[in-house]
Amino acid sequence: MIGLSIAIELHQGGAEVFVLDRGDSPATWAAAGMLAPQAENLGDSPLGQLGFYSRDLWPDWAKKLEKLSGLNIDYQACGIFLPGNQGRSAEGQWWNAQVLQSQIPGINVQAGVWFPQEGCVDNRLVFQALKRACEHLGIPVHRGVTIFGPGDPQLQTVNTSSGVIAADLFVLAQGSWSGEWLDIPVYPLKGQMLAIQAEIGQLKTVIFSESTYIVPRLDGRIVVGATQEWAGFAPGNSEPEISTLHRSAIDLLPWLAGYPVIETWWGFRPTTPDQSPMIGEGPWPHLCLATGHHRNGILLAPATAYLLSQQILTGKPEALLAPFSWKRFVKDGLCQGEGAKGLQ
Ligand SMILES: Cc1cc2nc3c(=O)[nH]c(=O)nc-3n(C[C@H](O)[C@H](O)[C@H](O)COP(=O)(O)OP(=O)(O)OC[C@H]3O[C@@H](n4cnc5c(N)ncnc54)[C@H](O)[C@@H]3O)c2cc1C
Repeated sequence: MIGLSIAIELHQGGAEVFVLDRGDSPATWAAAGMLAPQAENLGDSPLGQLGFYSRDLWPDWAKKLEKLSGLNIDYQACGIFLPGNQGRSAEGQWWNAQVLQSQIPGINVQAGVWFPQEGCVDNRLVFQALKRACEHLGIPVHRGVTIFGPGDPQLQTVNTSSGVIAADLFVLAQGSWSGEWLDIPVYPLKGQMLAIQAEIGQLKTVIFSESTYIVPRLDGRIVVGATQEWAGFAPGNSEPEISTLHRSAIDLLPWLAGYPVIETWWGFRPTTPDQSPMIGEGPWPHLCLATGHHRNGILLAPATAYLLSQQILTGKPEALLAPFSWKRFVKDGLCQGEGAKGLQ
């Protein structure tokens, strides 16, 4: 999501771009696709400001991506409903029991807040569309290429499974694997998910409770997520976690019990110690970072791509990105910066 989005913006700004991708099952494929700075309670923090900015970019960005790719990405400005108050009433509309039953028939909740500006997108379709858009624009995406680390002390080259590759600038967007060869604190936070096949149009808004979230797709699938587990890169679903998620979803929306679970899966959120991304110049002269998007990488992709590309192409710092420098971690002794692991 992040790498391909940046590639497209840079290309459209006139740069010559190529993408190197190992092709692991990425977080982008696994996500729920909520566009939810309000529901995620990002607040008035720098992350919240970036999140709201990106949420506002989404409608046009979705149109642009659909046009470039010729594919539908199932962007829905469908709002997100939070049961109860959960302390987040600004921007939201209070739904009492009567309104709630007319909007979400059968929900097992008395009242709550609905955020009409939030929404969701089918992140798997976005992933397909990004790849197709790159194809149409003539941006080479070299799949199956692993980056091992810097090829020289200035990072004008990288060593890869396809040999040494040179560029004027590299943008590191390796998701949860971003700390593989560079000493930056990005760790995988595993999330397990499941999908239920219901009827088309049966659920028209996202439901985001404290125990689970429920996200509709246009084809009638309903995505339920997600666990948060520090499990390294341990693959696989586990029965207790999936059952708990399923039960929580049925508690909220009892009619879900009448429909089959058609898929379970997992993914790794790229997470930093303060749960905010690192976007901007990297610790080496020819390196930029765009990583650590944690629970919000689908939401933040348009802003990350647009602002970082602007910064790279114009050389002028973007104020919204200033709080997301990797340097904030150096003081905690978490990050050595220059200590790229591949260049001993
Ligand atoms: C269960 C779950 C639910 C989520 N729900 C939401 C949500 O509702 N809304 C939201 O906004 N966000 C959500 N997220 C978060 C979001 O998915 C991520 O923040 C986002 O997808 C990160 O994108 P990325 O491109 O940085 O990483 P990824 O999608 O993981 O991509 C990283 C890429 O780097 C490549 N790579 C890694 N190492 C190397 C290497 N050495 N050489 C070459 N290539 C390499 C990989 O192959 C991969 O293609 C969720 C995440 C999970 C796991």
